[in-house]
Amino acid sequence: MSLFNELPYGLSASVKTEALLQELNELTAHHRAHCPDFARLLQLQWPQLTVAKSVAELPWLNVRLFKQFQLQSVPPEQVFKTLYSSGTTGTPSRIVLDAETAAIQSRILVKVMQPWLGKQRLPMLIIDCPATVKDRTHFSARGAGIQGLSFMGRQHCYALNDDMSLNWTAITEFCQQHGSGPVLVFGFTFMVWQHWLNAMAERGLTLDLPQGILLHSGGWKKLEQIAVDNASFKARVTELTGMARIHNFYGMVEQVGAIFVECEYGYLHCPSYADVLVRTPGSWQVAAMGEGGVLQLLSSLPKSYPGHSLLSEDRGIIYGEDDCACGRHGKYFHVLGRLAKAEARGCSDTFKAASPSATATSGAESMPQESPSTGGRA
Ligand SMILES: [Zn+2]
Repeated sequence: MSLFNELPYGLSASVKTEALLQELNELTAHHRAHCPDFARLLQLQWPQLTVAKSVAELPWLNVRLFKQFQLQSVPPEQVFKTLYSSGTTGTPSRIVLDAETAAIQSRILVKVMQPWLGKQRLPMLIIDCPATVKDRTHFSARGAGIQGLSFMGRQHCYALNDDMSLNWTAITEFCQQHGSGPVLVFGFTFMVWQHWLNAMAERGLTLDLPQGILLHSGGWKKLEQIAVDNASFKARVTELTGMARIHNFYGMVEQVGAIFVECEYGYLHCPSYADVLVRTPGSWQVAAMGEGGVLQLLSSLPKSYPGHSLLSEDRGIIYGEDDCACGRHGKYFHVLGRLAKAEARGCSDTFKAASPSATATSGAESMPQESPSTGGRA
């Protein structure tokens, strides 16, 4: 079976686990054959590796390696697009897409979003400025997110001017035309809070989008610093815009497409094409259900770069699989925030030992079980 043909939340664990493992094993073999740097990393970190018998046995890369190296499994002439992480601190990740992987990402993103948005493309209000997507060959994470999600909408309207101020004329025109029906509103969490909701509140403005659906993503760190949690975020959105359907989603630029959307009960859900594991820092063993640790994200989509199994720099906790009160299948979880620096101690040495450009002779020091390269972001 090809998972790509399946519904995002329809498979039970007994069916999904085996099918996903097979696809991920095939991807490991594919990247080993087509990405010399990946093959070298495998040899250093997983010298005994043959075929993984469980998802937990699959080799993983630290997501940070994509900041340091251009890891790709396609020849340069097949590169269709390169995605960059936001890179506000240090070097951004570089994710190399060929036409095939880019097409799969778009196709799967649409599949994952359909249960939440419906099959019709909705008029779309984007809580960002047009400049974010101007350079179409060199996307930032924000630009990539907007570009990816814009497939889901039509009659796109940017809510902000290029100086991040409210474009109230555009917003009110959009609402006059479409506001009484279903609309899609998308933005990064902090942009929505700071540059939309706060900017409106400062001027005493409100909107009426009773059938609107807000999708937002991008992490809570900045909002937690100003003591805004998910519940107060949602309450504020409803108060100022009338929207009650509000979904956070989680994903990395390193794994565009198979993203994790928050259900009505506040849990992020794994779609059929992806999986999530939690590993305990230190032992790096898979943590028990309900125990916090570092999130490892698995995706069956990445074919042009070895990103199918990545240890993130985020902490999370998995609550269950297939039995969320919302009725959707798949694992459901929370993201707890960024990995603390202390948990990532010793990672830089491991990087040097395991990095493709280093002439490491001893693989033993870079065994991931002992000190994986899980650096917290500065
Ligand atoms: Zn749920």
